[in-house]
Amino acid sequence: MKMMPSCREITERASDYLDQNLSPWQRAAFRMHLLMCVYCRRHMKHLDLTVATLARIAAEKKARGSDDIQRIVELLKQQADSPAGQKGEDCR
Ligand SMILES: [Zn+2]
Repeated sequence: MKMMPSCREITERASDYLDQNLSPWQRAAFRMHLLMCVYCRRHMKHLDLTVATLARIAAEKKARGSDDIQRIVELLKQQADSPAGQKGEDCR
């Protein structure tokens, strides 16, 4: 990855970023891009919410033995409605 990754690189590496598979330097460049690029911020936010929702669903499924599709849709809606711009690293 170059010093400043392109939007394409950001989307390509997004899951690596979320999975902490980037080097500290790559993470720094990634975050720098996100600071400056609203499109990638949106992309990341969406991806992050999707991953978090899927993890939550998996946990609930494990706990209750249910995989009700309606519940999944509700969770996704709830998360989509949550206020933007308040996501910090430690508010999960
Ligand atoms: Zn971008």
